Amino acid sequence: MSTTEQRVAIVTGAARGIGAATAVRLAAEGRAVAVIDLDEDACKDTVEKITAAGGRALAVGCDVSDEAQVTSAVERIAAELGAPTILVNNAGVLRDNLLFKMSASDWDTVMNVHLRGAFLMSRASQKHMVDAGFGRIVNLSSSSALGNRGQVNYAAAKAGMQGFTKTLAKELGKFGITANSVAPGFIATEMTKATAERVGMGFEDFQAAAATQIPVQRVGQPEDIANAVAFFTGDAAGFVSGQVLYVAGGPLN
Ligand code: NAP
Repeated sequence: MSTTEQRVAIVTGAARGIGAATAVRLAAEGRAVAVIDLDEDACKDTVEKITAAGGRALAVGCDVSDEAQVTSAVERIAAELGAPTILVNNAGVLRDNLLFKMSASDWDTVMNVHLRGAFLMSRASQKHMVDAGFGRIVNLSSSSALGNRGQVNYAAAKAGMQGFTKTLAKELGKFGITANSVAPGFIATEMTKATAERVGMGFEDFQAAAATQIPVQRVGQPEDIANAVAFFTGDAAGFVSGQVLYVAGGPLN
């Protein structure tokens, strides 16, 4: 592509939270952005924010764990927005429980959305990146990859995202494609709000309690993660690959 051509980015799970902030941020970097979420209508707010600021965006309904839906979503994005060369695998779900109470279905759901979803999206998108001789893949991991009580499924999936990332970096580097992982700590979104509800705390109190354990003494905001993704997806980050960046307001043990 010519240097003046607009790069096309896909952000999954971008109807809200970290995905929405990342889609808006990448649009501000000059990318055309495909906003994927389970429900196409739910993507409209993110798309409107981007277009109101003069950007280009497309709402796409797609379950990232469904092979046929992923294939047609990426084909549609390539046809309507242009060949995608930036992919942010952000879609995620929680199905927390202690091991002895966790159902096989809760295990499978978490594996399917995070790992199978990132695999299917990356496989469908990589051919466009190979053709362009340029690509940027960012996979959302989590501080929970280091282990977290009640999240044996999620911790395993998020640790898996790190191995997945490093392997993509090794396989795809020769095509000009980098793969990196951003591992957030506590970020204020619907996901952490749902956790507060599950443990019976108000969201404000839950955030205040979390902040006391974070060196910078505040919880993260979706934009904190979007900033890190913007760095990894930038043209200037071509020699940074296979890395995991914890964005958690401090180091983790
Ligand atoms: P969120 O507010 O719950 O947003 C996640 C989005 O992903 C939702 O819009 C959800 O749609 C969508 N999604 C779920 N399953 C999907 C599927 N199969 N296909 C397409 N989209 C799907 O979560 P968030 O806090 O922004 O988290 C974003 C990512 O960061 C996740 O991977 C999460 O694990 C990771 N993360 C978050 C935190 C945190 O503190 N918030 C910390 C570490 C890592 P529905 O609403 O329709 O379900």
